[in-house]
Amino acid sequence: HFEGEKLDDDLAHAVARIMAHADGARRLRVRTNADTPEDAARARRFGAQGIGLCRTEHMFLGERRELVEKLIVAEDEAGTEAALAALLPLQRQDFTEILEAMDGLPVTIRLLDPPLHEFLPDLTDLSVKVAVAEERGEVDAHDAALLTHVRRLHESNPMLGLRGVRLGIQIPGLFRMQARAIAEAAADRTDAHGTPRAEIMVPLVASVRELEIVRAVLEKEIAEVQESRGVTLDISIGTMIELPRAAFLADRIAMEADFFSFGTNDLTQMGWGFSRDDVEAAFFSRYFEHAIFDVSPFETLDQLGVGGMVEMGTIKGRQTKPDLKVGVCGEHGGDPRSVHFFDRIGLDYVSCSPFRVPVARLEAGRSVLEKR
Ligand code: PEP
Ligand code: MG
Repeated sequence: HFEGEKLDDDLAHAVARIMAHADGARRLRVRTNADTPEDAARARRFGAQGIGLCRTEHMFLGERRELVEKLIVAEDEAGTEAALAALLPLQRQDFTEILEAMDGLPVTIRLLDPPLHEFLPDLTDLSVKVAVAEERGEVDAHDAALLTHVRRLHESNPMLGLRGVRLGIQIPGLFRMQARAIAEAAADRTDAHGTPRAEIMVPLVASVRELEIVRAVLEKEIAEVQESRGVTLDISIGTMIELPRAAFLADRIAMEADFFSFGTNDLTQMGWGFSRDDVEAAFFSRYFEHAIFDVSPFETLDQLGVGGMVEMGTIKGRQTKPDLKVGVCGEHGGDPRSVHFFDRIGLDYVSCSPFRVPVARLEAGRSVLEKR
């Protein structure tokens, strides 16, 4: 089946045989990037063996954006705690649904990694609003205070700013709340039939110290839930390797990580110095016309540069922990040529969007079969 469209029986049979052949041969496991139960269920139908990246950013948009804004600009501890208390049950529900959809398969949940501006009001709009109100002598105290915060937090390059682990350290309580929600959701689903396999992943780590600080917070929350609920949870803590510095320091970072997942989207952006939001064929037309690039490095992994960092990070990480589980969850995880590369350098799994799961399975199998 392809999303309700039934293949002709002969063709369906042939596809099933090819996939079975590839699955029988492949070494790489194939997971999916999914952050809704619907995507998780779709990916399972395509053969995903777990979630390699559950981004949590979208879970904070819509009506919840206001709570995050409150958290970011909270002026005192009481304000922070109130916002966190309101977010906790919502997050618990999010994770319960995802764990339920994956039914015992591993689920890697990444802690919040948004560029800050997505949660803050637009600086220009707010400045104008306050200026107009000032002229009329009707300044709203909340708007004025908010403007001070937004000015202080404004970044000219948010993708290189207060994101990922940096945000988690700057806003105490944020990652604690997410860890508690994950642990409680896992505890809720622990029963006689088993324990859900959750993996907490820390984004944008550049130094061992960051991971050390966050890990202590996460472990404390998990331990508290285990104790209060009388259960043993299966929750590991790992990190994304998505900054060149992290790849260089992978041997040290591995001391604090149960697993690595390479974020090749950011690694490409940071490695090449291209904004991932702007590199398009039109933007670099002369590069494509003159075959300086045949494909965008965001589509197919640049094996020498970005791939070199992935390989080096893997080798270094495993120097510290020979059994370190290593995967990739950038878009390249579902790109055929890149999958062959990841297989060759010994990664354990690739994770890609649901619709690319069959291609990744096929290519992971071909990569092994071609060597025979
Ligand atoms: C990455 O950087 O490759 C990644 C998977 O994270 P995101 O795309 O969410 O930044
Ligand atoms: Mg990233």
